[in-house]
Amino acid sequence: MPLLKLEDTYLHKGKRKALVREIKQKGISDERVLEAINTLPRHFFFDSALVSHAYEDKAFPIGEGQTISQPYTVAFQTQLLDVKPGQKILEIGTGSGYQASILHLMGAEVYTIEYQKKLFEGTKKFLNRLGITDMKLFYGDGSQGLASHAPFDRILVTAGAPVVPDALIDQLVPGGILVIPVGDRSRQKMLKITKQKGGKYTSEEYDYFAFVPLLGKDGWR
Ligand code: SAM
Repeated sequence: MPLLKLEDTYLHKGKRKALVREIKQKGISDERVLEAINTLPRHFFFDSALVSHAYEDKAFPIGEGQTISQPYTVAFQTQLLDVKPGQKILEIGTGSGYQASILHLMGAEVYTIEYQKKLFEGTKKFLNRLGITDMKLFYGDGSQGLASHAPFDRILVTAGAPVVPDALIDQLVPGGILVIPVGDRSRQKMLKITKQKGGKYTSEEYDYFAFVPLLGKDGWR
């Protein structure tokens, strides 16, 4: 992780530790995920008006009608993804860049795509300022994946989808994992899809979550 260029204080570090304890109590057990959340200052990703809320286990607005996901949700999805250093990971829904930075911190090669141009541009500049210059950010419809850079070891969707887009399974390596919330507009079931050799896949179902909608061709219109 490069040196972050914004200020982190003992107060923030203390609040982060308490947040990690809270999400551990809620069932997150992967020590590498907990360590990444303990290390990355979430308040850097917040608008100054909301910064005092950064270590609450809640989603918050980031502009353009979008949100930075609840830390428990970030941890749950990251745990399901079973991230290994050096893996090539596509995140769909860059938003604030927080989730992508967690994956980066865990040693992944991160590709991330965002559908809202203003968020894409703002987050790209912000990550540069933070000193994260080796993440690959794209503007476009992530419901179609990112065919030009496929295949990926892992794909993580951070918006609620109406269906599992075929393109995302196609763009996984054999043995690759897709984590995606699928359901209606108000709640979605978390799915972990593992691609087998020959293109078949298995799907495991987890709890319900409430994400902002995945837009685009295979998202909500
Ligand atoms: N991962 C983000 C973070 O750490 O801040 C939070 C993601 S927010 C819950 C969902 C994001 O998905 C929004 O920024 C939204 O604009 C984006 N999104 C929705 N549909 C998309 C699509 N088809 N392709 C790419 N991004 C999309």
